[in-house]
Amino acid sequence: MMITTTSTDRLLSSAVVARLDATPHVFIDGTRRATRSGEELPVFDPATGHQIAVAASAGADDIADAVEAARRAFTDPAPWRQMSPLDRGRILHRIGDLIYQYADDFAQLEVVDAGKVLGAARNIDVEFAARAFHYYAGWPTKIVGSTVPVSHPNIHVRTEREPVGVVGAITAWNFPLLLCGWKIGPALASGCTIVLKPSEETPLSALWLAELAIEAGLPPGVLNVVPGTGGTAGQALVTHPGVDKLTFTGSTKVGKRIARQAADTVKRVTLELGGKSANIILPDADVQEAVTGSAGGIFWHSGQTCSAPSRLFVHKDIHDEVVEQLTAIAGQLKIGHGIDEGVDFGPLANGAQLERVRGYVQRAQDEGATIYQGAQLPADLTGHFHSPTIITNVTDDMECAREEIFGPVLVVLAFEHIDEVIERANASDYGLAAGIWTKNVNTAQRMTRRLQAGTVYVNGWGLTDPAAPFGGFHQSGYGRDLGPDSLDGYLETKSVWTCTAEIPLERSEEQ
Ligand code: NAD
Repeated sequence: MMITTTSTDRLLSSAVVARLDATPHVFIDGTRRATRSGEELPVFDPATGHQIAVAASAGADDIADAVEAARRAFTDPAPWRQMSPLDRGRILHRIGDLIYQYADDFAQLEVVDAGKVLGAARNIDVEFAARAFHYYAGWPTKIVGSTVPVSHPNIHVRTEREPVGVVGAITAWNFPLLLCGWKIGPALASGCTIVLKPSEETPLSALWLAELAIEAGLPPGVLNVVPGTGGTAGQALVTHPGVDKLTFTGSTKVGKRIARQAADTVKRVTLELGGKSANIILPDADVQEAVTGSAGGIFWHSGQTCSAPSRLFVHKDIHDEVVEQLTAIAGQLKIGHGIDEGVDFGPLANGAQLERVRGYVQRAQDEGATIYQGAQLPADLTGHFHSPTIITNVTDDMECAREEIFGPVLVVLAFEHIDEVIERANASDYGLAAGIWTKNVNTAQRMTRRLQAGTVYVNGWGLTDPAAPFGGFHQSGYGRDLGPDSLDGYLETKSVWTCTAEIPLERSEEQ
């Protein structure tokens, strides 16, 4: 298939074309199936606005089938849970290897499905999905219980860690493949089985991954992928009594609803939600480094990252210099279709998101803020593009400084004192990430302790690693993806009490 972009016609790989041309399907019990709902959803390339595929839109019956398959695969003789830990690790490793084998194809698929830029799709989305599987491949052999020093004589107590059961995973559109690694890796390492509902906007890479997992040796039914809308398929998964744990990545609004509904059957829940992350440049920072890192953080993937440093606090002495450098960077970004070489700035996910972002910028202007638009959008772009934007003359109470815009919009606020900026940075409903730019390591350490965020970056922004836990404070969620902490969300702890003394047989007087 040829994707016609602004500057060129680019041929997609045959593997990608096969995914785009596939008959709409769900993946349940190790095979592709048509939906029982019979419903379909068009899939669009955000950079052109053109339809590129048709995906299945699962209904409640399809979700029920998937949960049943996952339940069967979890029940004795459970083919996954009872497989040796070494063998489970080998299969997880092979899944990571297969992602690498098709890395360039996966990257192309994420470009046309999610509006990514090719280099970032390959080096971030695909790379970190594969790394997550390789990291969690090491865990099945290392999930251990403990011996407990209880204060009773002749009693031995130990703990065992057991998989929680059937996991319902629901993911956002901004990192379709990457989030699969973050959810599926630890769930499989823990011995769970899974039903994953990818976003209706970006269902293609998760479906492909499920097939590769079978090729890697994962038993059928252990990983089921069921695309569909949040309101139908998502709701059916959240309310299904056969699901033991929900892991959700998406907006805070939907996360709250899921938490409320999960309470009815006391499902375990992990929530990775929105953010409005504060990024602080102190007067002693290397300004050029700080500006480059901050601009990269907010403009990467057109600001559609949960931890985007969208609130930039700059010391008043360097405020104007920083804004000048930021606008220069924003003006030089090459906007276009992410499949084209040299492009470093792509579209928003869809038309609704574009309108949403425009609305935020317009209302900021109406409230008296100053708007700097960065690079001009090429006239021949047909997709959902928004120019990189910087907003100054903003106060903390303005909408653009409080709410998650989820677009390439940076709000810059001036500050004077460290105590003041920490208080302002923490005065947010969210607490996903925070950043500090300074050359003074003592200041950085003190500020790190006081900032209320799940991740704090010092003199950098945006790195993740499968070994480092990722998640939010406050309304950015609870529980953690990645690292050993993530495993806690997929494991139950069982205490086993064993009497070690011989119990004497009492004879009654009569005998
Ligand atoms: P969203 O909440 O609209 O949708 C996320 C997922 O939830 C989708 O699969 C959707 O179909 C499903 N969903 C929607 N309504 C549902 C319902 N009623 N019941 C069950 N499922 C439902 O979010 P989005 O627009 O896809 O993604 C953007 C949001 O995700 C942003 O807020 C962003 O910050 C957040 N996000 C957070 C992280 C993180 O790790 N904290 C990572 C990526 C994205």
